[in-house]
Amino acid sequence: MLTENQLIDSICEYNPSTNKVLINKAFSLAENAHQNQKRISGDPYISHPLEVAKILTEYKLDDSTIITALLHDTIEDTDLTLGEVKKQFGAEIADLVDGLTKIGKLNLFTKEAEQAENFRKLILAMSNDVRVLIVKLADRLHNMRTINYLPQDKRLVIAKETIEIYAPLSGRLGIQSLKEELEELSFEVINSKARKVILEKLHSLASDSSELISGIQKELSKEILKHKIKFSIEGREKKPYSIWHKMERKSISLEQLSDIYGFRIILNSIDDCYRIIGIVHQKWNAIPGRFKDYISTPKINDYQSIHTTILGPENNRIELQIRTSDMHDVAERGVAAHRNYKDKSLDKEKHTYPWLEDLLEMLEQGESSEDFLENTKLELFQDQVFCFTPKGRIIALPPRATPIDFAFEVHTDIGMKCIGCRINGINSPLYTELLNGDEIQIITDEKSLPPMAWEKIAMTGKAKLAIRRINKEKIKNQYSELGKEILDKHIKVYAKVKKIDNMKDFCSRFGLNSIDDFYSKVGRGEINHEMILKAFSKLKILDNSEEMNLENDIQVNGLSIPVRGFDRNIPFRFAEDSRVVPGDKIFGILDSDSGIIIYSKQSKNLNKHGKDVNSYIDLTWDIDNSLTERFTARIMIDCKNQVGALAKISRAIGLSNANIENLKLVSRSSDFYKLDIDLGVYNLSHLNLMISSVRKLPVVHRVVRVMD
Ligand code: MN
Repeated sequence: MLTENQLIDSICEYNPSTNKVLINKAFSLAENAHQNQKRISGDPYISHPLEVAKILTEYKLDDSTIITALLHDTIEDTDLTLGEVKKQFGAEIADLVDGLTKIGKLNLFTKEAEQAENFRKLILAMSNDVRVLIVKLADRLHNMRTINYLPQDKRLVIAKETIEIYAPLSGRLGIQSLKEELEELSFEVINSKARKVILEKLHSLASDSSELISGIQKELSKEILKHKIKFSIEGREKKPYSIWHKMERKSISLEQLSDIYGFRIILNSIDDCYRIIGIVHQKWNAIPGRFKDYISTPKINDYQSIHTTILGPENNRIELQIRTSDMHDVAERGVAAHRNYKDKSLDKEKHTYPWLEDLLEMLEQGESSEDFLENTKLELFQDQVFCFTPKGRIIALPPRATPIDFAFEVHTDIGMKCIGCRINGINSPLYTELLNGDEIQIITDEKSLPPMAWEKIAMTGKAKLAIRRINKEKIKNQYSELGKEILDKHIKVYAKVKKIDNMKDFCSRFGLNSIDDFYSKVGRGEINHEMILKAFSKLKILDNSEEMNLENDIQVNGLSIPVRGFDRNIPFRFAEDSRVVPGDKIFGILDSDSGIIIYSKQSKNLNKHGKDVNSYIDLTWDIDNSLTERFTARIMIDCKNQVGALAKISRAIGLSNANIENLKLVSRSSDFYKLDIDLGVYNLSHLNLMISSVRKLPVVHRVVRVMD
C-alpha cells in the first residue's frame, strides 16, 4: 500500500516548496475519520484517498487540490463536518471539498429521475473551480482501477457511466492520459473480448514492424538534423478503445487503421514547428486533407499541435504531431497545466474555459435542466446525443438516432410496442433525427410489433438486432400457421384420411426433420400443391380421382432463388407473375400474413394494396456480376411467319447466353407469329442485351417485355 511519505515524495518532485505540515495534517485527519472503514478489496479505506492524491501528483497539482483529494470522501462517509475542514484548512479547501461532496453521489445514468438536474449540478460544481472536477476524475480513475472487486452488474453500470460521461469530460479538460486510461479500463469491463482481440493484433503488428518503425524514425531524424534544429521524436502508441471507437464510427477494418504509424516531434519554439513542417513536406508527400494547424487555431480545450500525414520512407503512411514542449505539457495534462486556475490576484473572475463560461451564463439565466442541456451546445459529447424520458432520465444515443433507437434504449419492451412518439410534446414521425435535449414520449400499443422497415431507420445495433429478430420470428410463425392451414385444406379436399398419422415420417419425405420447418416451407410455397399431392400418393392416401392428373405437371417452385437487397433471413416471395429480374425497379410490400411480397414498380397489381404507402418497402437489388442464378423474364415477340424464323430467334437468344425456359405461341396469322417466351437471364442488362440482339433480326417485327 502507498504510504503518506511516498505521496509527499511525489509532490516534492515537482513542488519542492509544498506545505508538508498541512499535507500531513490532512492525511491524519482523513486517516482518523476513515479509521474503521475498509474498501471492498479489504484495504483500509485511507488507501483510496491516498491513491487519488497520488494520481493528482502525476498532473503536478497544487497543495489545495492534493488536500482536497485526501479529504474528498470524509464529509459524505464520516462524522467529519465541513465546518471542521474550514476551521483547519480555510475556505478555499473547504469549498473544494464541498464541491466534491455535492457531486459525489450523483448517479448520472442509473437513477430514473432527476438526471438532468444531476448533470446540471455536476457542471455547476465544476464551474466554480475546475479542480473539483479534476479530483472527481482522479477519484473515478482509482475506482476504475479497482473495479474488479465489485460484482459484474455494478461494474457494467460504472464502466458505462465512465465511458459516457467521465472520459469525455477528461478529454474536454484536455487531460489526455486520464481520458485514455478511463476508456481502456471501461472498455475492458464492457467488452473485454473485443479489447483482447485488438490488443493481440496490435502486439503482433508492433513486433512485425519494429524494424520498420525504427527505420522511419531514423530517417525522419536524419532529415531534421541536417537543419540543425533541436528536437525529440517518439513513436505513438495506439490505444485499443480509440481504435475500436474509430472502427465502429467509420466502419473500417482493424487493418485499415493499424497500418498507420504515428510519431510525435517535440521542439523548442513555435517557429521550429513550422520549419519542421516545411522540411517534412518538402521531403515527403503530404496526404491531402490531413494537415491541421492547431497552433494558430487551438482546439477548444487549448490543445495545440500541428498534425499531418505523409507518405514517408518506403511509402508508409505516417501521422506526425509537431508541437513545442509547452504545448506537449498542455496536451498531456490539459487544464491541470494551467497555473492560473488558482491565481486569483491576476484573474478577478473565475478562471475557466470559454465553454465553461458559456455554460455558466446559461445556468445563471435560470433555464430548466432540460433546456439547459439542449441549449448548452457545449459539444461536450460531440459524438453523442442526449435525450430525455418524460421523467427526466437521460438517454445517450449516437448521432442521427431516431425515436425508435430511443425506445429500444429505454427498454426493449418499449421498442417492441412502439407505434409513435411525441418529441417535446409534439406528435412526430418515428424517423425524426433526435437532437440534444429533446424530450421523447414513446406511444406504445400492446399488440404492435416493429415492422422490418424500421431496421433501416434505426441507428443503434441494439434496435436493429431486436427488429430483425422479432420479424424473423414473426414471419416464420405466420408462414408456419399458413402452412398448417394449407396442409389441412389439402387433407380435407384430396386425401382419403382425416389426418396424417405420422407427421414426422411425412415431413421426412421432404427431407425435413422438423414439422415446423415443413409448415413454414409450405406456407412459403417452397413445398407446393403438387409436391403435397405426390406425397399423399406415395402414402396411398390420395383420393383416387386425383391420381390421373399428377404425373405430368410436377415442378419445383422457383421461389427458393435468393433475392438480394434486403435481409435474406426474412421470408419473401415474388408477387405472382411478377417476372422481375435483378435491376428491375422493385417494391416490397410487407403483408402481415405472408411476409414481404416483391412487385415490379410498374406492376398494375400494386393497386390491389390500396394507397397505404406506409407498408411499401423500397428495395434495391445488390447486383453481383458473379451471380450465377438465373431469373425468369417474359418477352413477347411479333415475328414474320416464314420458314426458319423460330430457329433464328432461338439461336440469337442462345448466343446471348440466355435460356429459353418456355415458349408459347399466342397467335398466328398468315403473316405473323406472336410468341411469349420465358427466358432465364442473370439480370436486367443481360435481358436488354438479349432483347436488342433479337430485335436486330430481320424476321422480328417487335419485341416487348411482359410483366404482370
Ligand atoms: Mn472516492
